Amino acid sequence: MQKGNIGVTTENIFPIIKKFLYSDHEIFLRELVSNAVDATQKLKTLAATGDFKGELGDLTVRVKVDKENGTITISDRGLGMTAEEIDKYINQIAFSGANDFLEKYKDDANAIIGHFGLGFYSAFMVAKTVDIVTLSYSYKEGAKAVKWSCDGSPEFTLEETERSDRGTDIILHVDEDCKEFLEESRLQGLLTKYCHFLAVPVAFGKKKEWKDGKQVETDEDNLINDTCPIWTKKPSDLKEEDYKKFYRDLYPMADEPLFWIHLNVDYPFNLTGVLYFPKIKSNIDLQRNKIQLYCNQVYVTDSVEGIVPDFLTLLHGVIDSPDIPLNVSRSYLQSDSNVKKISTYITKKVSDRLQSIFKNDRKEFEEKWDDLKIFINYGMLTQEDFYEKASKFALFKDTDNKYYTFEEYQTLIKDNQTDKNGSLIYLYANNLDEQYTYIDAAKNKGYNVLLMDGQLDVPMINMLEQKFEKSHFTRVDSDIVDRLIVKEGQKGEELPHDKQEVLSSLFKGQMPKVKKTEFHVEAHALGENNAPIVITQAEYMRRMKDMASIQ
Ligand code: ADP
Ligand code: MG
Repeated sequence: MQKGNIGVTTENIFPIIKKFLYSDHEIFLRELVSNAVDATQKLKTLAATGDFKGELGDLTVRVKVDKENGTITISDRGLGMTAEEIDKYINQIAFSGANDFLEKYKDDANAIIGHFGLGFYSAFMVAKTVDIVTLSYSYKEGAKAVKWSCDGSPEFTLEETERSDRGTDIILHVDEDCKEFLEESRLQGLLTKYCHFLAVPVAFGKKKEWKDGKQVETDEDNLINDTCPIWTKKPSDLKEEDYKKFYRDLYPMADEPLFWIHLNVDYPFNLTGVLYFPKIKSNIDLQRNKIQLYCNQVYVTDSVEGIVPDFLTLLHGVIDSPDIPLNVSRSYLQSDSNVKKISTYITKKVSDRLQSIFKNDRKEFEEKWDDLKIFINYGMLTQEDFYEKASKFALFKDTDNKYYTFEEYQTLIKDNQTDKNGSLIYLYANNLDEQYTYIDAAKNKGYNVLLMDGQLDVPMINMLEQKFEKSHFTRVDSDIVDRLIVKEGQKGEELPHDKQEVLSSLFKGQMPKVKKTEFHVEAHALGENNAPIVITQAEYMRRMKDMASIQ
């Protein structure tokens, strides 16, 4: 038997990293700015533990673009690197300084973004040459400023250089075919997308103002980010208005949200965030992928399928978790056990919150029900554990605009709406105008009629019939309505046989499609408008049509 190590040489792995590591070239900026933020956070940790005794001073990370020379520079005043550190962390691909650092400063470390040791090389997706000019915070103990330079081949140069201030400049000499990244507007857009909530201030050039018809630079930094977004704060420190404002910042065009849920766990995984139930103007407004996923305040993606349960992809907001693996494929994500736990946790949190609003403020819950219904129904239809919880607070609305829980409704109709097999009959209308006469007639007989005109009510009815024991949903204009067991004295007497015959041939002559007739004298008037006859339809026939139309 032979044992050995598979040889990996940079010659063959480098081009692969450059080409396939990330599907999107634009994320080089996220990676480099994250590294600058990490370097700054590490320095803050060193200052807190007393290992760095100097002045922290201004810690803003600065991004500059020089179109003439074709460069982008990312500068920080973080902890910098010595020549040895460059050799260890940069020259060795997939060797991350973050792990070393976290190992050493486990308890004091501010959230560090990096941990794969691959992000830096994403610079080569857009740059033909990359320079690092850096001076370690330990320069007073003799560390020298160094310049590292590499043209994307596995060869690099490393030499001493001049630099008086601690920190690092990463200089990208942008490739011919990536010139788009030299456009200010493009960079501004990318920074806003990826760095909007980073924990260290990031500035992109200076603010501009209009003077005498021209745009001129001011002295003020053009700051990209909010370093303390609300999901990093304690819910008890926040007011309703803070949540609303944050929502407006994220979605300036949207209506005020119905309500929100502040997520905050640190065991068994780390996750924070705020989820909003949006108010939608119409069903066309329903949009997936409005939740943004962050990892330590770095934007990762807005495609959260597989991370949150399907029905929650309709919510808006932000989720931040360092435990969601960043640089990996979707299929891997979906099988990751942390991701599964996260999904279960979020579902539970959402149902708990709904449950508590329902319990503590039923009036508010009912007022919002018409808007909430679509989300809750969708969750009930697609996720069993959500159904279990939601069936306690999901509501039925009747044609008089009254709301009932499933249980309350069952109690309401139990004595009055059963058929001869003892099945509970849920009468419903799905069009108030068209079915007005039938609703009226049913109400006159003392029945209650639900309004089920929602987009998901057809599948909901099918599901509820399976969930509820011995129950049927019957549209108010169906033939079953007449066959409910009604209280003594309410039932109309059937007409004698000969009269039935006469009327039947009369009707069938006029309306050839009528299959069956039945005539009885109604003890009660059929509603306010005293309809002399009522034409009903077999429930199962109609349902077959309904199902066909949604398939
Ligand atoms: P990761 O961030 O996942 O550790 P990277 O490839 O992005 O991997 O970076 C590799 C290492 O290089 C970092 O862990 C860090 O030690 C070092 N490094 C990169 N950028 C900087 C910087 N701006 N300042 C100090 N060190 C840096
Ligand atoms: Mg990194």
